Amino acid sequence: MSINICRDNQDPFYRYKMPPIISKIEGRGNGIKTAVVNNADVARALARPPMYVTKFFGLELGAQTSVNEATDRYMVNGAHDATKLQDLLDIFIQKFVLCKACKNPETDIVITKDQMLYRDCKACGKRSPIDLSHKLSGVILKNPPTSAGKKGLSGGKKSKKERKEKEKDKNGDVDDAEEADGSDDELTKRIAAEASSLPPVQATSGVEEEEDDDWAVDTSEEAVRARVKELEGQVGGFAIGDDDESNGNDLYSQLGNWILEQSPKPNNVDVFKKIKELGIENKHRTLQVLAQTLFDKDILTQIEDRVPLLKKLMAGDSHEKAFLGGTERFIGLEHPELISSIPKVLHQYYSYDIISEDAILKWGSRASKKYVDKEISKKVRKAAQPFLTWLEEAESEDESDDGEDADDSE
Ligand SMILES: [Zn+2]
Repeated sequence: MSINICRDNQDPFYRYKMPPIISKIEGRGNGIKTAVVNNADVARALARPPMYVTKFFGLELGAQTSVNEATDRYMVNGAHDATKLQDLLDIFIQKFVLCKACKNPETDIVITKDQMLYRDCKACGKRSPIDLSHKLSGVILKNPPTSAGKKGLSGGKKSKKERKEKEKDKNGDVDDAEEADGSDDELTKRIAAEASSLPPVQATSGVEEEEDDDWAVDTSEEAVRARVKELEGQVGGFAIGDDDESNGNDLYSQLGNWILEQSPKPNNVDVFKKIKELGIENKHRTLQVLAQTLFDKDILTQIEDRVPLLKKLMAGDSHEKAFLGGTERFIGLEHPELISSIPKVLHQYYSYDIISEDAILKWGSRASKKYVDKEISKKVRKAAQPFLTWLEEAESEDESDDGEDADDSE
């Protein structure tokens, strides 16, 4: 089914069509968001970069947005139904698409040297000015149609395939079809799919390296396992090599072993009591130990329960770093089968506000052998890359909003 681009045009032979907006509410509470599921399709029908459409919704609704063309994710904070968005889209079309003279939607956006915006009509040749007082005009000037479209081309192959999959859903009841897909949300699934399609180990692209790179790299599973064993032997369960408070290791081992010995694992209150009893409630290393001991192979279903405890103890940058280090160690050393789940784990840390995006990006930018050996450290970061990329794009997206207060609401 498709609808007229100019919805108030009653001409039965009107040939400019677009798909109606499909939206999906995700998350709950403060984290509630609306995914504009077919944002890219709608934007294509209007010959506008997808980000313009999402941004426009955000500006009109006073809501923050995030745009990721590579993963085909277009999010608006808050819950907004498709009808509302469709009405807003009419305004977008009036202001930024239709020729003012002949109402034809086949127009190009033109930016003049003096930073004026026009719709250039292919049908009648007239130029209609675009309202520069609308905040989207600022976005367009900063992201001209050509460069805003480039991003889409690079991710084109994948999103085409994804679009095809969505096309199938449209045949059924759209709302239900979207809900019926189990516990993982779309983003987590995509990240996982990307992560599992990554080639194994080997020299990493975006990851900076420390100088002493003298590993003779044997990446066979056996070799990795042998190195893991060796490393475990060297440094013991919870100790880390280059730490000067080494005589405090006992306390951390006590905490770690105490948690590991119990089945089921102790609840948050008991863990917190134990930590206080040991007097290490302010120590960043405590978080490393927790990352190594609170979870098992089902970590993805266990993080949520630990949010209150972890947030209570997370007192600064070094704490976040230690928690990520502990996670790296837990997965890299003890559960290498979970390496492909790293993006999901990080995504949960991030969306439950356990770890800030700064800390995750910092962690991801540099392999380190502080917590695990270098090869594993690289492997973990490589697996994390899809999430890191997503986060970077979301972040630069936010930065580009500076100065547009309607978009800055938290
Ligand atoms: Zn025209």
